[in-house]
Amino acid sequence: MAMRHGGRRGWGRVAISCIAWTGFGWVGASAQAATLPAVIVKSVPTTKKVAALTFDDGPTRKWTPEILRILNENHVKATFFAVGTEATRFPQYLQEEIKAGMEIGSHGYRHRTLRGLSETTVEQEVSANASTLEAFGAPAPKLYRLPGGKSDVTALRVLGRLGYTVIGWSVDPRDWRHIYSAEHMARLVEQHIQPGGIIIFHDGPNSSQATVDAVASIVPSLKQKGYRLVTVGQLLKDGILPKNRLPIAVHG
Ligand SMILES: [Zn+2]
Repeated sequence: MAMRHGGRRGWGRVAISCIAWTGFGWVGASAQAATLPAVIVKSVPTTKKVAALTFDDGPTRKWTPEILRILNENHVKATFFAVGTEATRFPQYLQEEIKAGMEIGSHGYRHRTLRGLSETTVEQEVSANASTLEAFGAPAPKLYRLPGGKSDVTALRVLGRLGYTVIGWSVDPRDWRHIYSAEHMARLVEQHIQPGGIIIFHDGPNSSQATVDAVASIVPSLKQKGYRLVTVGQLLKDGILPKNRLPIAVHG
């Protein structure tokens, strides 16, 4: 029962990480925060035309440099939710992301689905990835993307206790299905994007040229529509926060 009271990182981290926009209202931290699961941020309320591009499952030798080239050429920063086993295979590409000013979030060490696991197993999966990414030069990750988008109360409690903000998405062109053309995916993103939106793509082993081509089309077209593409961390900072609430992005 020791974990009930916030675990070793203490109340401060837990309290702040448990405030987030749920799509239905702001869930605020309180004295009970340590017993509340972290909620999943799918988009950020804002009046500004900002959106975040995110890439899961990398880094990979094949796709990460291609995606980075497009982002760099267009002076755009994005968030990469890196997997520990891939970062261990291709640390140089993780380091290129960092050097390019991209944000590194965590997508787990082994890309395990955090559902039905014990607290200890969840903590191992999450903490092993943080240590791995940090060992290769990334700042301690503060954002977590759930593999498969799946979780349960145990997993969200552990993530909250460890100080993570859990990031979902609002626009999913489902590039991992390999059935949509780059044009189809680009059109879907352009039609569904809203201010504060979070777009999910993949630069992992299961990615493809269609992802690269879709991103190459989306980046300039969203800019043309007046969107500023930022990291998720920046999006959280730019979002409108209710009065008397602590901002989500400043924990740690
Ligand atoms: Zn994934």
